[in-house]
Amino acid sequence: MRVQSIRGMNDLLPSDTELWQSVEDVIRDVSELYGYQEIRLPLLERTELFKRSIGEETDIVEKEMYTFLDNRGESLTLRPEATASCIRAAIEHSLINRSKAKLWYMGPMFRYERPQKGRYRQFHQYGIEAFGWTTPDIDAEIIMVAHMLWRKLDIAQHTTLEINSIGSPTSRQNFRTDLVAYFDKYRSSLDEDSARRLSTNPLRILDSKNPHMQDLINNAPVMTEYLDEDSQRHFERLCVFLGSQDIEFKLNHRLVRGLDYYTDTVFEWTTDLLGAQNAICGGGRYDGLVELLGGGAVAGAGFALGLERLIEVLKHSRFEFQPVNPQVYLCVLGDDAEVEGLRVAQQLRTAGISAIVHCGGGKLSQQLKSADRANSLLGVIIGASEIERRTAIIKPLRQDLAQQSVALDDVVDNIREMLNSTG
Ligand code: AMP
Repeated sequence: MRVQSIRGMNDLLPSDTELWQSVEDVIRDVSELYGYQEIRLPLLERTELFKRSIGEETDIVEKEMYTFLDNRGESLTLRPEATASCIRAAIEHSLINRSKAKLWYMGPMFRYERPQKGRYRQFHQYGIEAFGWTTPDIDAEIIMVAHMLWRKLDIAQHTTLEINSIGSPTSRQNFRTDLVAYFDKYRSSLDEDSARRLSTNPLRILDSKNPHMQDLINNAPVMTEYLDEDSQRHFERLCVFLGSQDIEFKLNHRLVRGLDYYTDTVFEWTTDLLGAQNAICGGGRYDGLVELLGGGAVAGAGFALGLERLIEVLKHSRFEFQPVNPQVYLCVLGDDAEVEGLRVAQQLRTAGISAIVHCGGGKLSQQLKSADRANSLLGVIIGASEIERRTAIIKPLRQDLAQQSVALDDVVDNIREMLNSTG
């Protein structure tokens, strides 16, 4: 019997990896433009880390984590997100004790969700985190990083930004009390999920997509009315910064996000190019989290972006992706030509020109067919008569140009010239 892959965990095939790599390149460039440095983190952490940071009563911790006991009976979890890991590492290696830090990461995350298009059990996130700034200018900067990415990938016109403030823990507690009192009055109208959340995580009721719940939700108390003066000023300033950058945004007072650790600013980018799973990037401020995880009173803000969804957006947009084709394909006929072919190919690669040598023998017509299939730009043909005359034939494969015979020792120079002249 064949062993199959695990549901919700995808293979990324060669037909897609070039697109992924080019997106990853853009991500690296943009992170660097804003002064963020890469951090690479383990996929496994102690379960405690996520329970404490994300919150015991969130969907992620309640039902979506891949958790197991290792051989010594210690509970470990495959990371469902990386903000907590990032903070754990930053505290452990003293990156943020006395100084500020701007970090970014990219890699797989694991959540035991019901797989569907755009929602997987292993998926990839790119994220940034800024530690040490309490002011709204950094919230704006974080949003600008995402916006710069959309611009570089030519999808800005397909993205929408929603922002909200969920205030300080104290004002949120007041809001929470009133919210529970309100929903409690209508307990019989709550759906099963919301009824459960009423006692565990009432703010999440506001997130419900159930159409029957919408009237009730629309008439519920609004968090903005509970914000204290500092939070109000913080939020207004953020709006000014975004306005000055011509970044359009919508205020969404119902936006709460699924993780417990946020304070003040929360935001989400969605796109009109995907179906139900249209959230591509979400984040906000998490001022108490570093302390909660055993560090000092260090403020933080960041976002996480779903790469599968971003790639899907690019496939539906006008982003022009230039696949990198092997530039030269060497057709070799006969024992001596095979040896020469290896040598010339190695010279080409040393000169920075990618080269494939035809392996496994076969007629010239078959070899040229393989060259075509590999999308090569140029063919180099070395047969018995070329060996005798110490020459090779260079044959343009993508343009209607004549082939030419050049000395074997001049192949690399000739090809370099041809590639330069065609750009
Ligand atoms: P979160 O960490 O839940 O705030 O998610 C941040 C982003 O990660 C979302 O906006 C999505 O783009 C992406 N994402 C979250 N969960 C999944 C999943 N199960 N599969 C694919 N992408 C996801």
